Amino acid sequence: MQVYADNAATTRLRPAALDTYIKTAREFYGNPSSLHEVGQAAKEVLEDCRARIARALGATNADRIIFTSGGSEADNQAIFSAARAGARKGKRKIISTAIEHHAVLHPLERLREEGFEVVLLPVGENGIVSVKDLERELSDEVCLVSVMLANNEIGTLQPVKEISALCKAHKIPVHTDAVQAVGHMPVNATELGVDYLALSAHKFGGPRGCGALFVKAGAPVFPLIEGGAQERNKRAGTENLPAIAAMTTALEEALSMLPQTAQKVSALRDKLIAGLRKIPHGILNCDDKLRLPGNVGFGF
Ligand SMILES: *Cc1c(COP(=O)(O)O)cnc(C)c1O
Repeated sequence: MQVYADNAATTRLRPAALDTYIKTAREFYGNPSSLHEVGQAAKEVLEDCRARIARALGATNADRIIFTSGGSEADNQAIFSAARAGARKGKRKIISTAIEHHAVLHPLERLREEGFEVVLLPVGENGIVSVKDLERELSDEVCLVSVMLANNEIGTLQPVKEISALCKAHKIPVHTDAVQAVGHMPVNATELGVDYLALSAHKFGGPRGCGALFVKAGAPVFPLIEGGAQERNKRAGTENLPAIAAMTTALEEALSMLPQTAQKVSALRDKLIAGLRKIPHGILNCDDKLRLPGNVGFGF
């Protein structure tokens, strides 16, 4: 029997998501930008998915959901948007952490080359960033704080809600890469208080090459891809409707089973941790409770 234990890299497509993909590709073949009936039927599916993704994230009607090609694009768009808006006001400092995904670290590296000051905070031995350390770096120069909700390797959860509250007091926008968290633990963008939140379909049983960026009402957002007027001018290109619909099905299914799945998976996680700890020199990386239900990070 094969055991697949690399779900942080990608997950198997949920059968219900595959069904939705096929049905949408077959029946809603129109271009949502076309004004005729076939196009408008596709447009209706697109907007229905947007409303459902928004609801799943606890977004308000004024917030935006922008469909993207995945988590990387959503992270890039959030970071470059906040940086561009910041630069216009002469603010050129960004605070993030050393444990971010490359989809965050590499755009930050690019901005550093362009003259931004980028501070990457270390995490403690528990794999969690210190809010105190972060607070020390805040100033009028800061145009963005970017801290992931859950780490993709060590699985630790970061205090994003606390960080958002702190940044709100200083009027600093906050981005969170929630790619590992969405579909695996409750994620409410409004409760978190973030301005930008990135998610990716293939990390919760949706298809690869599809994701979304939540943008809080009023937060600046610029397109990475210029062209047509799709996504209200914020992301050009004909929408990948079958993937968007499949992502929506996958997220709703994941969330409908979340309490049971999280309980079952974290019990298995704890059992695996207990077993691995019996191996001489086995060390669990980081905090054993503030971590994703399905993540075990061990060193030997
Ligand atoms: C997978 C992942 C991404 C990238 O998402 P893609 O959809 O593969 O582009 C970004 N951040 C984290 C934390 C991830 O795990």
